[in-house]
This record gives sequence, C-alpha cells and structure tokens, in this order.
Amino acid sequence: MAQVQVQLKHVTKRFVTKTLGDVVAVDDFNFEVYEGECFSILGPSGCGKTTALRMIAGFEDLTEGEIYLSGRPVSSSRSNLYVPPEERDLGMVFQAFAVWPHKNVFENVAFPLRIKKVNRSEIERRVAEALRHTSLTGLERVFPSDLSGGQQQRIALARSIVTNPKVMLLDEPLSNLDPQLRETMRFELKELQRKFGFTIIFVTHDQSEAMAISDRMLVADMGKIMQIDTPENLYNKPINRFVHSFLGESTFLKVIIRDGQAYPEGDLEHPLDVPVPQGADREMIMASRPNAIELGAAGGYQTHIQTRIFLTDRTEYVVPIGNQTLKVQTPHRITFSQGESCSVRFVEPMWYPVEDEDAEKERQRRQLI
Ligand code: ATP
Repeated sequence: MAQVQVQLKHVTKRFVTKTLGDVVAVDDFNFEVYEGECFSILGPSGCGKTTALRMIAGFEDLTEGEIYLSGRPVSSSRSNLYVPPEERDLGMVFQAFAVWPHKNVFENVAFPLRIKKVNRSEIERRVAEALRHTSLTGLERVFPSDLSGGQQQRIALARSIVTNPKVMLLDEPLSNLDPQLRETMRFELKELQRKFGFTIIFVTHDQSEAMAISDRMLVADMGKIMQIDTPENLYNKPINRFVHSFLGESTFLKVIIRDGQAYPEGDLEHPLDVPVPQGADREMIMASRPNAIELGAAGGYQTHIQTRIFLTDRTEYVVPIGNQTLKVQTPHRITFSQGESCSVRFVEPMWYPVEDEDAEKERQRRQLI
C-alpha cells in the first residue's frame, strides 16, 4: 500500500464577506492522497476547489482542521501552525500564477532555486534538466512573450519541477490552451509524473479532463465533498443525482411507483419495463446514460418520434414519455422517421430520491442569485 502523502482532516474554511455574509467555501473536507497518485478535485464554479488547494499550498489559513504532508502537520487551526509555502516541498502551477514576462526562460525556471540560495553550477544543472524534460532546451534566453501558449505553460511546469517536489498542485493549468494542446500537455504531464514520481493534486471544473488524468477524483458541490472514487466508479456508481449529472450526459425521468411497477409521470396506464429497486419511494428519479437507452420497434414503453436530428456520427431522437420528453441517440443504421411509433427500453437505470431534485433546484437557485 502506498504511503499517504497529503492528508486533510476536518478542514473547513469560512470567509466573512461584506455583501454575502458568511460563506463556507470548504466544509469539513476529509481525504488522503497517496504517494505517486494523480488526484483531482472536481466541481462547478464556487464549489471550493481553489480554496482547498490554496490551503494545501499554505496561501490560506484554516478556519478549522489540520493538513499533513508526508505525515508532518503543516497547517493546524488548533495550534495555529502554518508552515510557509516555500517550506512545504510543493511544485505549483496555478492558472493565475503565470510566467514572469520580464524574465527569460532560464531565469523563470531558475527562480525557485535562487530563493533557496542554491549555488550557481547546481542551478545551471537543474534548470538544464527541467528544460530538457519539458522540451524547452535551446530557448533559455528567449522571453515568454515570444513563445506560444503551450510553451509558456511548459515554462510554468519546468519551474515547478526544478525543485524536485514531492507533490504538484495544479489549478486549471491547461485552461488557457486550445483543445489539441490541452491533450498534448495532459499527456506530457503524466509523462513527467512517471519520470519524477511526484504526487499530483489537480483542480478542474472539466470532468472529461479529470477523468482522463486521474487515478481518483473528489467531486464537490457548494463546499461539500459529494464523492471520492476512481473515474470509472464515479461514472458507473454515482452516489447522487448531482454527481451523476456532473460526470457525463444523462437523462432524468420522474417516475411514479405503484404496485411494484414504475410509471412515467403523466402516464399511469403504461408501466416502464424496468425492475423497481427495493425500498423505492412513491416518486423517484430514474437516470440513464445515453448508451443505456435503446430505441426499438417493439417491447418496452410504446411512444413515437417527436423530433429527429441528424448528427455526424449518430441520430438523435426526442420521444415523449408521459408528460416528459427524452433524448435518445442511435447509430445511423437504426432509423426512425418523424411521427413513427417506437418503443423505449432502459438498460439498468440508476435511481435517486426526489429530494435530490429539490437539492438540484436549490443549487441552481443559489447560482442564480
Ligand atoms: P472557480 O472554479 O470559480 O475558481 P472554486 O470551486 O475554485 O471556483 P473557490 O474559489 O474556492 O471556488 O471559492 C469558493 C467560495 O468561496 C466562493 O463562493 C467564493 O466566492 C468564496 N471565496 C473564495 N475566496 C474568497 C475570499 N478571499 N473572500 C471571500 N470569499 C471567498
């Protein structure tokens, strides 16, 4: 079993603001990140991910709780202990922590070593190595403004690995890059991790990026941890509707349970052809990923094609189900025309209580305010 590298125990951060009153940005965060792991903190804007990372980095104090790095306490609200960022053995690439425009590539990368008063020949050697690993060799005397976005991002990466840190904190490090470059940099980041063996804590609101890069992910909403698991488990076994909807496409249908059958709201005559989970409430939310809904000629719930949209690699249909509508995508070889009758079958749907729907409404309401 790998060693615990980063540990948060009951970490809470409350901001007192003039206009919004108290904001609990991070509410009782408890988690561990293991040596060599790539761990993402994922969630919508305002969920507290940057605040959590800033507390690990040592830029922010804690309202409550403790943070440990390699078993050593580095932040503690109780004992008012705060090890400064430069003594935490961390590399950081923050979105707002861009490269210095007035320093050339060499000086940008050498900076953390100069702060540590490393001698000249050692600086030369370590900067050369960091530049080699980030494909920047030869650009030592060039200024960042003469380089592309991807190269500038590499300078930030080189600067963060030059001290050979145990942990890398990355806050949306790829967000300013175009999609193709993002993918390349993602790959390069994993390569660097493999070579150097550091632990990564990666903050993002982009679920596909987090899924591609992470060993495990933490999904947060409104300052609270919703679920921590592998990308596969989060996708296949989301704990609630929020996690389900945040990680990939889904359809949610409100269903009424009666005599062991599930009926779509608005049609209590035609049951859906699905097994009802034990202990189901009278009303439930049934969730299905697009690849778990089948459109056919017979069997399942009988309906008709309301709208047909041709997409490049598949066809999308909108079909009424009770008083709701459902989007279904099929490969082009399965075709229905507008108005044609069809049947819908749900393969192993997931079930959530309706209170979750209220929570979702509340979340949306808060974001609107
Ligand atoms: P984003 O993706 O938009 O950066 P985030 O998930 O990283 O969002 P945080 O930046 O951690 O969220 O902010 C969480 C909450 O804490 C927000 O409601 C924010 O307004 C509040 N907050 C963050 N920093 C401060 C601060 N210095 N003073 C007051 N409130 C703050």
